[in-house]
Amino acid sequence: MVWQKHLREGLLETNACRVPAPDGRIKLDSMENPHTWPAEMRDQWLAELATVDVNRYPDSGGQELKQQLRAVYGIADHCGVLLGNGSDELIQIVLAGFARPDACVLSTDPAFVVYGLAAKSYGSGLVSVALDENFQIDLSTTLAEIETHQPAVIFLAYPNNPTGNLFKVADIQKIINIAPGVVVIDEAYQPFAGATWLDDLADLPDKVLVMRTLSKFGLAGVRMGYLAGNAGLIEELEKVCMPYNIKPMSLVTARFAVENHHVFEQQADGILRERASMEQVLGAFPLLRRFPSNANFFLIKAEGYAQQLFEHLLETGIRVKNLVGVGTGEALKDCLRFTVGARTENDSLLAALAGYYPKIEKSDRSFVR
Ligand code: PMP
Repeated sequence: MVWQKHLREGLLETNACRVPAPDGRIKLDSMENPHTWPAEMRDQWLAELATVDVNRYPDSGGQELKQQLRAVYGIADHCGVLLGNGSDELIQIVLAGFARPDACVLSTDPAFVVYGLAAKSYGSGLVSVALDENFQIDLSTTLAEIETHQPAVIFLAYPNNPTGNLFKVADIQKIINIAPGVVVIDEAYQPFAGATWLDDLADLPDKVLVMRTLSKFGLAGVRMGYLAGNAGLIEELEKVCMPYNIKPMSLVTARFAVENHHVFEQQADGILRERASMEQVLGAFPLLRRFPSNANFFLIKAEGYAQQLFEHLLETGIRVKNLVGVGTGEALKDCLRFTVGARTENDSLLAALAGYYPKIEKSDRSFVR
């Protein structure tokens, strides 16, 4: 095939990021909000959608939505805001802006997989610094790697995916202090985190960008992310953003949803209550290690039987995320990731686990809720 030699270096050896299609199983693999909308709110939304003139291009700046995001989430007037088709696209946009041929991107290991995929697709080098045994940043190694590689972009997910924890604020501050390029603080799980950097954005150095998404809030299907930071920096990134990247239906839907943010906040509160309850019950399975979570999912270690447990759950009609074979290090060995779903979904998961454990642990059948 003549075109192969023209492909970007390394692309042939890379796998596409394929996600299993919904197949009727209980979906606890993608950290979606399981709740739908009250009927009246849905009708209001459909009425607003009906006003969209799809024969026209959308407002390419998304000014109205940006104004609303600023007002609801307290983004200072002098900061810039950029919208993306999910934060996935914003990750690409940042790299399109900063990925010189010799550029390097630094993140943690484990980290959100798209950082690595996007870095590769722009031909940037990727330095992944292993987290410590509590999934905290190994500060001295990270600072040394930053000194050595001088990364153009550093991605830190706060909380991190797939580990679920928040990194220490003081560690992030030290990284910001010595970073030679931009630092993107990815707050995809902010509705569940109880902590944010966005409130302090105006006081942070101009190399810091805070990235958020409406996906976990409840609009995963709409694909809407936003990036906030220094106005001059955002203006440069706008130059690598395609015009009309956001569909008018998405703009209308996101604006409507943010206007009704209290509904989604109530849903998040329900998910947080479920997380607290699941935390206890999952802790009662003696052969299952559950890591602490500040997000709407749990990282789970099932030593020696993660693949078998994953398959058991699939057979029972539940899809969780299988992390077996993901990543290069040992950190995710024998790990699965369980999204916190609706109560009935979580109960199905817990019942399936309770049904599994008697096979390997006859003495303990503690399944309480
Ligand atoms: N950042 C992190 C840490 C994530 O886990 C995800 C999605 N799982 C994203 C960004 C991307 O979110 P989206 O593209 O749906 O906005």
